[in-house]
Amino acid sequence: MSNDTTRHDWTVKDALAIHELPLMTLLFRAQSAHRDHHEPDAVQLATLLSVKTGGCPEDCAYCPQSSKYDTAVGAERMLGIDEVVSRARAAKAKGATRFCMGAAWREVKDGPAFDRVVDMVKGVKEIGMEACCTLGMLSSEQAKRLKSAGLDMYNHNLDTSKEFYGSIIQTRTYDDRLRTLENVRSAGIGVCCGGIIGMGEAKRDRVAMLVTLANMTPHPDSVPINTLVAVEGTPLEAQKPVDPLELVRMVATARIMMPKSTVRLSAGRTRLSREGQLLCFMAGANSIFYGEKLLTTPNPEADEDAQLLRDAGLRATGPTHVDASSEAQEINATDAAHRFAHGESGAGSCASCDLDAE
Ligand code: SF4
Repeated sequence: MSNDTTRHDWTVKDALAIHELPLMTLLFRAQSAHRDHHEPDAVQLATLLSVKTGGCPEDCAYCPQSSKYDTAVGAERMLGIDEVVSRARAAKAKGATRFCMGAAWREVKDGPAFDRVVDMVKGVKEIGMEACCTLGMLSSEQAKRLKSAGLDMYNHNLDTSKEFYGSIIQTRTYDDRLRTLENVRSAGIGVCCGGIIGMGEAKRDRVAMLVTLANMTPHPDSVPINTLVAVEGTPLEAQKPVDPLELVRMVATARIMMPKSTVRLSAGRTRLSREGQLLCFMAGANSIFYGEKLLTTPNPEADEDAQLLRDAGLRATGPTHVDASSEAQEINATDAAHRFAHGESGAGSCASCDLDAE
């Protein structure tokens, strides 16, 4: 089979056949597909901030922010615009090029809270970062408003297969999710959509989710692959951790099925060894969340990530979204690589990025 697998007619049988290949063959194929479409040593750094934490009326069984479960995460006030922009500045100073803002909402409601998010997006764009939001369900008018504010990407995960979805979430349907993705796409915003493994689903469910994503035209721009972080108080608190090789298989299958998309290693990375993470990069992951927290769950320290990437000869890249101008991409990529190599101050000269900083 050719590595040029940009197709939209996948079946679960096709996807399972890839997922179950001998591991070395799977890795070879995934790495080949990756090299056909991406720089092999480049990793995008995205930082995620919860701008409105907890108190969510939805019942996602994995989520400590749901008001239906008794967890350590309580409802908090929404952050202010200045606070968010200053956090984005700090993330940029550490080398992140994309800033994602999450709110624990069922859906976006028009009014002051949404107005504030729109202003946050404008603020993040003004400091030269890519802006992404994850706010729950979104109407087409709201999507257009976010696009006008400069939003590059919208995250809305399918989480799992259509068949398994009802075991995880009952307060909204799979079709609701697909409708929001359509509204996002129609507004010209990049689609970030993936899922979670380790929730008790079968392998068939994992690949069925990838089939739904890979049969979208075009494929999602970004595909985050999360492993469950089993949080006390949620219905999934007793789930056993996923074997890291299962994550590697999932990343590799996503890379082969959606060769041009950015595949992001997301929640659950703290449980992976450095070697496990490198296998995921070899399998085609080319983006990570960077920063101490992913909404409410822990993430590796930025310094540990920087060290890992340096040790592996990987480098940070600039924005990947198609709407970013090539000039801005070049400037941001160089700036990000430099800050990543030299730390927050960016001090020092660097042969690899050709920048001399004060
Ligand atoms: S995953 Fe999102 S929608 Fe679901 S409960 Fe958590 S915050 Fe709410």
